[in-house]
Amino acid sequence: MESESVRPSAGGRPAAAKASGARGRIDQGMLDRLSSRVTSLGGRDAIPVYLPFSGEVLGHVPRCNAEDVREAARRAGEAQRIWSHTRPAHRRRIFLRFHDRVLSRQDEILDLIQLESGKARRHAFEEVMDTAIVSRYYANSAEEHLKARKRRGAIPGMTTTWETFQPKGVVGFISPWNYPLILSITDAIPALLAGNGVVLKPDHETPFSALWAVELLVDSGLPPSLFQVVTGQGSEIGPALIESVDFISFTGSTETGRKIARDAGEKLIDCSLELGGKNAMIVLADADLEKAVAGAVQGCFTSGGQSCISIERLYVHSKIYETFVHRFVEKTRALRLGSALDYGVDMGSLTSSRQLHAVEAHVEEAVAKGASVLAGGRSRPDLGPYFYEPTILENVQGEMRVFRDETFGPVVSVYRFRSDDEAVERANDSRYGLSASVWTRDHAKGRAIAEQVRAGTVNINEPYAAAWGSVDSPMGGIKDSGIGRRHGREGIRKYTESKTIAHERGPLLAAPQGATAGRRYSQLMTGLLQAWRRIPGIG
Ligand code: NAD
Repeated sequence: MESESVRPSAGGRPAAAKASGARGRIDQGMLDRLSSRVTSLGGRDAIPVYLPFSGEVLGHVPRCNAEDVREAARRAGEAQRIWSHTRPAHRRRIFLRFHDRVLSRQDEILDLIQLESGKARRHAFEEVMDTAIVSRYYANSAEEHLKARKRRGAIPGMTTTWETFQPKGVVGFISPWNYPLILSITDAIPALLAGNGVVLKPDHETPFSALWAVELLVDSGLPPSLFQVVTGQGSEIGPALIESVDFISFTGSTETGRKIARDAGEKLIDCSLELGGKNAMIVLADADLEKAVAGAVQGCFTSGGQSCISIERLYVHSKIYETFVHRFVEKTRALRLGSALDYGVDMGSLTSSRQLHAVEAHVEEAVAKGASVLAGGRSRPDLGPYFYEPTILENVQGEMRVFRDETFGPVVSVYRFRSDDEAVERANDSRYGLSASVWTRDHAKGRAIAEQVRAGTVNINEPYAAAWGSVDSPMGGIKDSGIGRRHGREGIRKYTESKTIAHERGPLLAAPQGATAGRRYSQLMTGLLQAWRRIPGIG
């Protein structure tokens, strides 16, 4: 049975149906099978995984400990030694097969993502699409990104030099709950294609989507031991994971990211950190208003605003402010909330009570200090335990938490600006720098503003998906939003060690023994260096 979709209350409209216990295509047998994929040496407690739509238990996964993590890394390492010798064409076929199967079996994973995270199906579909795009992209481009490249040698004509890319070994992934499929799997795809083994620790609130994808990868031909999954609390098994791997890729909060960086530094392994954001959208006076309003709804409320690239600050030119805000409020109030496992719902539930309380705290504090609620502003227990209405705030001031801190929920503050310079300055007034969005009909102006905004990605006339979906180009954060990049060449090379191989055909590159020979060598080399300096093209 599917739950009824309802609209958020607009001035006291009656609330409707409660979340149902529908589980779509997901049965207990499937959950038990997925749970058995976790690397656990047995005898551990089980961790419950909850259904955000109802608060009931969906299933259980093992509570792994440090010993399980070390065993997972050992197994992945053993499999990696064989995998690293496989041919690129073999790896490519596996990931293209995976691409096809994700698309053909999407109904299953859409149900699972919705059930674990509480998001609406239209937002779960973004995860299916992104997984397919990234699989296809890296399947087709990994070989090119990683092929050995000839470099200028020490002595022109005598030294032949190659830059090569070797797999790191075993790569550890720690992922959050908000995009349980893509943030667990799509960063691991380039790591595997580069010849690495993987140990993944998905968030304990949403482990089944990742386990489903690993099962599908194995069905598509990936060696079963190459991709290990451990489940449990990050604070309990995170340190053991970092100790056991050769690179750690983390996606989550800035606070945890700092701890990961410290642990990785102690072990002297490299890391990439994809962290939080407080993303700004700037609407210039000449923007296509209807498109910008639709973009704001998408950018602020997709996945209930529980997205690192979600828009939480909306700057609108004073000339169009009133009209824009009026239309934005109207469209936001018209969003249908619900828990149906179909496309009839515009926004789902938040994922946990922790998220609900965080969102409530931000809004309550802002209102107490003088902010006005233009839409939403309240939870909807009538729909399910963690539903919260899409919310627009006005008159938000610097001392309110919602002004500076990431809310990570369906809450946006709207601000008025009078000049483009002011908009840029205010957009840059944040400790974060992940994603941003600029709206204008003037392409050159949009590009100029995009250059000035301090963020890892900037979208023009699109809220976030244009840059995210451009997977041939790097994506990541600056300032407190992280270190390193996913996507593109950087998104796969980071999982390799670059290694230089130089073949010398001339004499040894050192002064020969003896005072006279040494002097002659230094004179010869000085002459050569002076000559090279004058030849264009010799760096
Ligand atoms: P979180 O940092 O609490 O948890 C993320 C992961 O880290 C979980 O798997 C958790 O178990 C693990 N973890 C927690 N403490 C750990 C420790 N001490 N050692 C090792 N692992 C540990 O983050 P969250 O609240 O689950 O996720 C939301 C945050 O993630 C938001 O700030 C959001 O912006 C950010 N995020 C960033 C991106 C990005 O690409 N930049 C994408 C999605 C989410």
